[in-house]
Amino acid sequence: MRQPFRASALILSSPRPPPSPPAPAMATPGGLIRAARRGTLAQNMVVDRIFSGIQPTGTPHLGNYLGAIQNWVNLQEEYSSVLYSIMDMHSLTMPKEPALLRQNILDTTAAILACGIDPKKCFLFRQSLVPEHAELAWILGCITNVPRLLRLPQWKMKRASQSNGGTVGLLTYPVLQAADILLYKSTHVPVGEDQVLHLELAQDIAQHFNKKYGEFFPVPKAILSTTKKIKSLRDPTVKMSKSDPQKLATVNIVDSPDEIVLKFRKAVTDFTSEVTYDPASRPGVSNLVSIHSAVSGLSIEEVLHQSVGLDTAHYKMVVAESVIQKFAPIRNEIKKLQEDKSHLIKVLEAGAEKAKELATPIYQEIRRLVGFQ
Ligand code: ATP
Ligand code: MN
Repeated sequence: MRQPFRASALILSSPRPPPSPPAPAMATPGGLIRAARRGTLAQNMVVDRIFSGIQPTGTPHLGNYLGAIQNWVNLQEEYSSVLYSIMDMHSLTMPKEPALLRQNILDTTAAILACGIDPKKCFLFRQSLVPEHAELAWILGCITNVPRLLRLPQWKMKRASQSNGGTVGLLTYPVLQAADILLYKSTHVPVGEDQVLHLELAQDIAQHFNKKYGEFFPVPKAILSTTKKIKSLRDPTVKMSKSDPQKLATVNIVDSPDEIVLKFRKAVTDFTSEVTYDPASRPGVSNLVSIHSAVSGLSIEEVLHQSVGLDTAHYKMVVAESVIQKFAPIRNEIKKLQEDKSHLIKVLEAGAEKAKELATPIYQEIRRLVGFQ
């Protein structure tokens, strides 16, 4: 039997539903079905289902890998129903040239496969190939209040980079995220810490829908990896981000060894030369320690122990080297995969067909519940 929980990952559930004991598992032709932990009614039986996604904004960075993708690889082994999506609709919230988006979709897919995502163990698909995501987002948008969306920090931060005061798409993309998750009645969502508030919105939307139309959606839980948030190398008070315009802030997993060395050499730390771990008072050097620990598999204590006597300038090179070592094989594999575009396209299409098979009956039921049928 697959183990639904990993000791190394933290599962955050909505504080609202009262916990109930796990219902007994039962075998079905489709695999293992487990009753929703919070469910009581027979029709509330749901599969433990993982959903997560990544925007094709470019190749993934250290934060994406350590905060999300690495966890995805473990979860595809542990759960029987797992969906990972290349979120092309989301990436239009920060508009880019169509040719670049097309290329980014394939590059992101190659990167994810190279990191160990196996389309035999999960459904890997392109979001826009399943238009029900957008249709459900419309329905969910009609039960979501604007002030709630206006309070979300990602809206406040990202709208600042748009000259028009922020588009409707940027404001409402968390509703589309809720639709992404709920369209498959997903129960668990592995995300980085930056997405926790968006997942809380999805939980609230699920509960709101259930109250209005009858118990239907499981309330999805967040699965946080042990490395929750990697910070920008230029400003350790903000997260590392694909859309950060400062090139030295973000280490991409395809960066060359020289680029990696340069980015770590220029990483912002402070005036103390000792290597210590205290994210509140020394965010820069602590971010380096977190990265070092995550890529080497050593604990924070072990990493600190090894670094006794090093000053931060030397330590930056140690971290750079461990990052180079970690990503060298992945980088080679990405290059190989990028040579076969038609294979990448086929993977995404085959995944979408399977995702659609799951989504169609659920969406039909939603249509009936809201009165479209
Ligand atoms: P963008 O700046 O375009 O939003 P991003 O860097 O935030 O890009 P996403 O595609 O939005 O990347 O996120 C993909 C996954 O990576 C999400 O699960 C997100 O929580 C996680 N993630 C993103 N940035 C970090 C980070 N700095 N540390 C840990 N996890 C992260
Ligand atoms: Mn993001």
